[in-house]
Amino acid sequence: MNLKSNEPFWLLKNGLVASYPSLKSNEECDVLIIGGGITGSLIAHQMIEDGYSTILIDKRELCNGSTSATTSMLQYEIDVPLYELKEKIGEKGAVLSYKACSEAIDRIEKLTKIIRSKAGFKRKKSLYFASKKKDTAWLKKEYEARKQNGFEVEWLEAEQILEKFEFENTYGGILSKQGASIDAFQFAHELFMHNAKKD
Ligand SMILES: Cc1cc2nc3c(=O)[nH]c(=O)nc-3n(C[C@H](O)[C@H](O)[C@H](O)COP(=O)(O)OP(=O)(O)OC[C@H]3O[C@@H](n4cnc5c(N)ncnc54)[C@H](O)[C@@H]3O)c2cc1C
Repeated sequence: MNLKSNEPFWLLKNGLVASYPSLKSNEECDVLIIGGGITGSLIAHQMIEDGYSTILIDKRELCNGSTSATTSMLQYEIDVPLYELKEKIGEKGAVLSYKACSEAIDRIEKLTKIIRSKAGFKRKKSLYFASKKKDTAWLKKEYEARKQNGFEVEWLEAEQILEKFEFENTYGGILSKQGASIDAFQFAHELFMHNAKKD
């Protein structure tokens, strides 16, 4: 079995879902969005919801950028741990930023229902585990920071991780309730089709 490929998985799985005409004349709009991946699809959706006449352009077929290559995880964790972000920008901003990411998952779920998405949104827990003993200390600090700020997290010891998930060689980790997965390529296309119909 080939585990590695140069081709983006979601593009191969879904094929060419939809194609749109090129912009060949001058047009007026309130908002012009450049780039038709998951970001452009969500911004376009919001702009149209808010009543702005919106045009979205892309230099190639829609969703052929990194949106076609994701591992489909929707997590509220950003790249900087909460405890570290607090030190960098202060508690209020750090917590707000983590809460906004968490709420985004709920909003995406709502949106999948509104547009009757078939992109396979599924609620999933996530496990952030230490693969080296030296990482346990800061990961525990991160667990405390999330717990104190109301995130639904649980600390699992290595034996519990082995028992629940059959992962060996861990040194404990944070189990987060909030999380999901989705085919972002399909979802972005669905949003484009949903909103293009309103034209
Ligand atoms: C292997 C991989 C796995 C990933 N896994 C995850 C994951 O599990 N979860 C997660 O949240 N994120 C993941 N990501 C990140 C995620 O894919 C990106 O953050 C997301 O797809 C970005 O979407 P986007 O719409 O901003 O960009 P893109 O999907 O790249 O779309 C940008 C679009 O802009 C167009 N464009 C660029 N420049 C111009 C121009 N000058 N004129 C006209 N058009 C232009 C491009 O053609 C493209 O279509 C992963 C990324 C990769 C590569």
